[in-house]
Amino acid sequence: MLVRKFGGTSVKDASAVKRTVDIVLSSSEKQIVVVSALAGITNLLVSISDSIRQHQLEFAITSLEEVRNRHITLVNELNAGDVALNFVNQICDELQRIIIALDVIGEVSAKSFDKILSVGEVLSSFIISEYAGSINNKVCHLDSRSVIKTDSSFMEAEVDFEITSEKINSSMSNLNNYDVFICGGFIGSDKFDSTTTLGRGGSDYSAAVYAKCIKASKLEIWTDVDGILTSDPRLISNALLLKEVSYKEAAELAYFGAKVLHPKTIFPAIQDEIPVYVLNSYKPEGAGTLIRKDSEFGNIIKAIAFRKNITVINISSNRMLGAYGFLAKVFDVFLKNETSVDLVTTSEVSISLTIENDKNLQEIIHDLGEFASIEIYRKRAIISAVGEGIRDTSGIASRFFRALDGVNILMISMGASEVNLSIIVDDSELNKAVELLHKEFFETDIENRLFVKLN
Ligand code: ADP
Ligand code: ASP
Ligand code: MG
Repeated sequence: MLVRKFGGTSVKDASAVKRTVDIVLSSSEKQIVVVSALAGITNLLVSISDSIRQHQLEFAITSLEEVRNRHITLVNELNAGDVALNFVNQICDELQRIIIALDVIGEVSAKSFDKILSVGEVLSSFIISEYAGSINNKVCHLDSRSVIKTDSSFMEAEVDFEITSEKINSSMSNLNNYDVFICGGFIGSDKFDSTTTLGRGGSDYSAAVYAKCIKASKLEIWTDVDGILTSDPRLISNALLLKEVSYKEAAELAYFGAKVLHPKTIFPAIQDEIPVYVLNSYKPEGAGTLIRKDSEFGNIIKAIAFRKNITVINISSNRMLGAYGFLAKVFDVFLKNETSVDLVTTSEVSISLTIENDKNLQEIIHDLGEFASIEIYRKRAIISAVGEGIRDTSGIASRFFRALDGVNILMISMGASEVNLSIIVDDSELNKAVELLHKEFFETDIENRLFVKLN
């Protein structure tokens, strides 16, 4: 059995949905199809929550009508039928009641936020399954909220694999007349059946959860680019397609900013060694990128990922010289303030680290200030070269730094996994640095057995 995930751009409008459904129905294999919200809808739902918080009820209602209209247009253009149309109105009417109720209270809890955000996938999966079902009677809808069971950490819920696996498999055996199960990504529910979400971009992860739970033979992530490329094509227009990457490389690339995969995606697949393909729904004939355990890596780096708008925190304490417990105290502060740390470099008396989410920065500064002096640098960027070849090939680091001649490097870190070499630069130098690195590693002398030149 197969699991396929189609992202927002693959279901953004009627022609994209038709293309997606063609791909789905052209296979005779039994499959679970995980779909995202239509492109842009989740952002619109976030803005509805923001408007409620800012007491802009009118704006929230206008955005809700935009959500309704996009889905009604989709239903009409697909000719998906009255059941789909009524469903859209029912869900949007319910959302309107939620908005009005929250406006009275004037706040949006994490639980309400998840309820609002779930609307995108609730609607897209139902409409697409009605449409695909009108073409093929082996298609049915499976509501992810009834099978993906999570804890109650709203906005970033953790999946309970044991219960989820039981629920998915028993639902599928109850529906054993069907071959194609269409489900919303990103959403689940906790033990009280309150709706939860798995973190932004989390539909990829939902697909991996389904794949693990049904022991899928493969997982396909369908998106709007040809596969995993040597860098983000929005910055590097001549980025190359990677034929294969290893699980480790894919995980590092996702973690360090290659948006094509959600950072958590790969883990359920790694545990069960499920091969993952990244494919382009606009060019279904393409081979895409295969992610598997023992991918060939050659003696090179595979890709360059980056993350913008990072905050660097330098923490030092002379009093701690020779004393134990300094690092433990530092990391306790981040634990207490629920902030994850990305890169770290240390000496005995000081530590530099980076965070992306600076929501609790004031509290962090306060808590660290109790035992250390602190410097904060905002608007930095992490650039990471990723490739298993980094581990065993001499000369990669020197090429890397030579290529960056003239760029001011503020911090260097060789990942403990030994498959990434990362630096911090000022945001303003990011584009130049990525272009220089791409030129050095991918624009001369490339190994054709690992890369494909696009157009
Ligand atoms: P989806 O809606 O299918 O989930 P996303 O927008 O989340 O799609 O991810 C696809 C985007 O990821 C691409 O359009 C591309 O701009 C971006 N991206 C960033 N880094 C890479 C990379 N190394 N390879 C491919 N795409 C990348
Ligand atoms: N729709 C959700 C988001 O935009 C999940 C996803 O697309 O993966 O974050
Ligand atoms: Mg995505």
